Amino acid sequence: MSNATQLLQSIPIDPLTGAISVPIYQTSTFVQEAPGVNKGYDYSRTNNPTRATLEKIVAELENGSVGAAFASGLAAIDAVVKLLKSGDEIIAVDDIYGGAYRLFTQVYEQYGITIKFVDASDPINIFNAISEKTKLIWIETPTNPTLKIADIEAIAKIAKANGCLVCVDNTFASPALQQPLNLGADIVVHSATKYLGGHSDVIAGIVVIKDATLGARIKFFQNACGAVLAPLDSWLTIRGIETLFLRIKQHNANAQAIAEYLENHPAVDKVFYPGLKSHPNYAVAKKQQKGFGGVVSFSLKQDELKLAEAFVSNTEIFKLAESLGGVKSLISHPANMTHKSIPAGKRRAAGVSDSLIRLSVGIEEVKDLINDLEQTFKKLNKHSAVQVCDATKVEENSFC
Ligand SMILES: *Cc1c(COP(=O)(O)O)cnc(C)c1O
Repeated sequence: MSNATQLLQSIPIDPLTGAISVPIYQTSTFVQEAPGVNKGYDYSRTNNPTRATLEKIVAELENGSVGAAFASGLAAIDAVVKLLKSGDEIIAVDDIYGGAYRLFTQVYEQYGITIKFVDASDPINIFNAISEKTKLIWIETPTNPTLKIADIEAIAKIAKANGCLVCVDNTFASPALQQPLNLGADIVVHSATKYLGGHSDVIAGIVVIKDATLGARIKFFQNACGAVLAPLDSWLTIRGIETLFLRIKQHNANAQAIAEYLENHPAVDKVFYPGLKSHPNYAVAKKQQKGFGGVVSFSLKQDELKLAEAFVSNTEIFKLAESLGGVKSLISHPANMTHKSIPAGKRRAAGVSDSLIRLSVGIEEVKDLINDLEQTFKKLNKHSAVQVCDATKVEENSFC
């Protein structure tokens, strides 16, 4: 059975009524027949049928044994870090999601957990950074916003040989494109706010664990710390996941066409997309992913903050907003938005240049999206004080 069919088959029909849509159990508690005698549920922080269904669906999608749904992606990440103790060390990918960076450095370092950041696009950097204190290796692949790729299988082998756990933040690829547990990782986390939910209407996080004992530990933290996903938000996430494979197909196709369009554009300096043969880790991405995802970043030949600012303010279909993974296309300017708090020198060194623009390519008709980018390039060239290209080379109806 194909993945998409398997997914839809795995969403249960309500045994009580035959409802084909998963019921929303909007209840805090469950009446007991006698003290301690219940139907498997006693209190919704501990367990809730709607949330349990979501957890089962995502655990199956990631081929893990246990799923745990949280109130946000960051709460999911937080639950994984709680596996560590004071004195332990994390090795994390250097262009890690900003919220995870803040959690690791401003919260967990207070408790004596140390963090080393390395460029994970070459596994040797992880190998070289491992010490006897290292307990957890934290990978994102593709990364945000420069779409770097890490070889999950190679890193998992290094981790196993050194007794470390590997956790992959699989938000950007989604299980439709990449299943880290099948490549040797121990834990997967998702910001389900992005591709799993898919409609920019819910904040949610999921952890999926391969080993049942480790899974029980995460479920313990979920209940003990309490950042659980609400029943309605669990339902919204299930509702989104039903069309995951269909949406991802369109995201991939649109993003690939846009990356190729941008790569041939005279005003564009670099295009960051793992589906381009020019990507330094194209071969690894091709090996471990079934497609290359919906996020494309690019920088301009004239690397100026103002120019990128004008660009992101002049698109019509691409809406200016943080976040990604929804059906509607979004555009953002990391230097002024998600990465603004990072000092300019450090930000540039991480590959986030002043003019870097990130697209979360939606599922609209790709022709319309390319036309939107093209009209923006033209508008900037004709009406802006800052020129996208050399004005002397501008021809009527050409891009520049
Ligand atoms: C958005 C995001 C998160 C955080 O998820 P929230 O749901 O916003 O808490 C974590 N990792 C990645 C890669 C993300 O894009």
